[in-house]
Amino acid sequence: MASEFDKLFEGVIPEGKNPTKLFRETYHGTITALSYAEILLSRAIRKYGPNHPVSYPDTAYYLPVIRCYSGEEVTKLGDLPPILNRMRAMVRSDLTFENARTAGWATWYAAEIIEALRYLEYTPEKPLHPDPWTGFIGDPVVRKYGIKMVDWTIPGEAILLGRAKDSKALVKLVQDLMGMGFMIFACDEVVEQLLEENVKLGIDYIAFPVGNFTQVVHAANYALRAGMMFGGVKPGLLDEQRDYQRRRIRAFILYLGEHDMVKTAACMGAIFTGFPVITDQPLAEDEQIPDWFFTVEDYSKMVQVAMEVRGIKLTKIKLDLPINFGPAFEGESIRKGDMYVEMGGSRTMAFELVRSVGEDQIEDGKVEVIGPEIDEFKEGDKLPFGTIVDIYGRKMQEDYEGVLERRIHDFVNYGEGLWHTAQRDIVWLRVSKDAVAKGAKFKNMGDILIAKMKEEFPAIVDRVQVTILTREDLVEQYIEEARKRYRARDDRLAGMTDEAVDVFYSCNLCQSFAPNHSCIVTPERLGLCGAVSWLDAKASHEINPVGPNEPVTKEGVIDEHKGMWKSVNEYVYNATNHSLEEVNIYSMLENPMTSCGCFECIMAILPECNGIMITTREHGGMTPCGMTFSTLAGMVGGGTQTPGFMGVGRRYIASRKFIRADGGLGRVVWMPKELKEYLREELVKRGAEEGLGEDFIDKIADETVGTTVEEILPYLEEKGHPALTMDPLM
Ligand code: SF4
Ligand code: ZN
Repeated sequence: MASEFDKLFEGVIPEGKNPTKLFRETYHGTITALSYAEILLSRAIRKYGPNHPVSYPDTAYYLPVIRCYSGEEVTKLGDLPPILNRMRAMVRSDLTFENARTAGWATWYAAEIIEALRYLEYTPEKPLHPDPWTGFIGDPVVRKYGIKMVDWTIPGEAILLGRAKDSKALVKLVQDLMGMGFMIFACDEVVEQLLEENVKLGIDYIAFPVGNFTQVVHAANYALRAGMMFGGVKPGLLDEQRDYQRRRIRAFILYLGEHDMVKTAACMGAIFTGFPVITDQPLAEDEQIPDWFFTVEDYSKMVQVAMEVRGIKLTKIKLDLPINFGPAFEGESIRKGDMYVEMGGSRTMAFELVRSVGEDQIEDGKVEVIGPEIDEFKEGDKLPFGTIVDIYGRKMQEDYEGVLERRIHDFVNYGEGLWHTAQRDIVWLRVSKDAVAKGAKFKNMGDILIAKMKEEFPAIVDRVQVTILTREDLVEQYIEEARKRYRARDDRLAGMTDEAVDVFYSCNLCQSFAPNHSCIVTPERLGLCGAVSWLDAKASHEINPVGPNEPVTKEGVIDEHKGMWKSVNEYVYNATNHSLEEVNIYSMLENPMTSCGCFECIMAILPECNGIMITTREHGGMTPCGMTFSTLAGMVGGGTQTPGFMGVGRRYIASRKFIRADGGLGRVVWMPKELKEYLREELVKRGAEEGLGEDFIDKIADETVGTTVEEILPYLEEKGHPALTMDPLM
């Protein structure tokens, strides 16, 4: 039965042009996939019994395609036969577009079941896929890229299926996609083709080689989970989900090489979901569906056409660089053996600085390298380094310097073979041998910074000039100026308290994905993604008054200690489609702030310890509350209040306002070691300030102490952890 969403497909096939060949192929492919799933399933049930568990690793969404489209929480083998039978009963042999789409939908179910059965043999020690093949992609990865999907840094998803007729043209196509920031799923022989051509694939490159054949379903279950996680689309709401996928996820399939009936049926499942399919095979006009299943033989035109049918428009400045450039390279690391030169990282002196300068102190577009260029250094050299980015703009202010400076990290990392970490005078950079062999120069870094600053901040940046220093005496001289400026900035921020301002800011950036979530950002509580501070939100509001950050006044105190104001409640109520009525900014137990899905950390109560624990996205392991990050994320995300649990940004933990209403920092009994080290300096200071002692940080247990309450309690007792003697938590 056609639904509201299916109106989208009405009238797309011209009268008298029914593509019967395509529909017949789909029908037979679907029956094949369903039968194969059935055989494997009955074999598995015979071997393991109907009560044997079945699941994918690292997900709170059961078998996500099934969970998403029809709501079932599949947990054991015995749950599957009725679902499979129901889908089979829906498949009709009449060759109509509607029947073909339903068949495609059933094929996705079959594929998901086939792949889930493969995981019966899976243990983390015995992965099903050799690197870089991903197989099923766990929730942590989906969340990791959430914010990039939200702000369109990732403009869409390209699913490559099959075998390309020309590897070189394929490489060019994939590099174009990466350069524009697309998320890529590759399935089948294209994966080998790309690896043979040395294209970097894997989670870090947002290019997932999922596997072969029916493993293409891992692209589908990724997209559908994004809809449930960030879109807040409830499981089982088929049409809402398809609508969301169509509007937000903007995926398309590039179906390459000879067609196969099962793959064709899977492509029809994509069309069912609202994703068009473009093939490189010449098809007769009546084997195509206009705008939905059609031919583009020329690889150099495919991406362009795909973007047009999906309505994806990019406004990017073209950069002429010897290396590839785009968010796909952001996660790339450069190991010692691959590195040509290295700067900073406490090996040499290095810094980076954004300065707001006057109109006559700048030459727009100029990049100057003072000192030797990269090719004058030897492989393995460690050199002093300074990057100064001068900015003039009619609306530029000193307050924005830090906001722009923090983006240097992303921009430089977007360059293939450039690696950047930390900031200010603790920055650490590497350039790979590969990049230098391709001709990369320090000057290119300047070009990148100029282009990106202008592209990302058009409202405040009119002119940009970059100076790169590689001479020790100059670095030494300018690092002093830089430090003075850092200090001045810090003093401004450190002196800033929630009491001292009369407006907070909202951040509604994630609403494009999580419509019922709104972050309230205060000087002492940054957004839960860790990327938006009060100053950032303020700057962003000034740069773009109709953008995602709005001022939220503080009027009508209801409870100052817990952090509740009448005006904030009103704002939140309106901003969340009336789903949230009251919020305590400083509590996780009573009316806590909601979470979208981008949280850096999740906190959970541990009643047995009279305290709370915190885990991070980076910590994949078990935690004392009995749940991993990804299970917890499934509980707290999506914009609903979950007292006792809350997503936060890392730096909030060291804030004076950290869950003040629930007892503050002294409540923290467990966090991963890595987080402890990350915050060490601040936590030592805060421990002293709170009267918990400078050594408080060492009273907090971590995974080396244990990952269950039983394991950590004796440690807390031995160390005399303050939480044990605080007022009862609940
Ligand atoms: Fe999303 Fe909140 Fe971060 Fe804004 S501050 S980007 S709403 S998580
Ligand atoms: Zn978010």
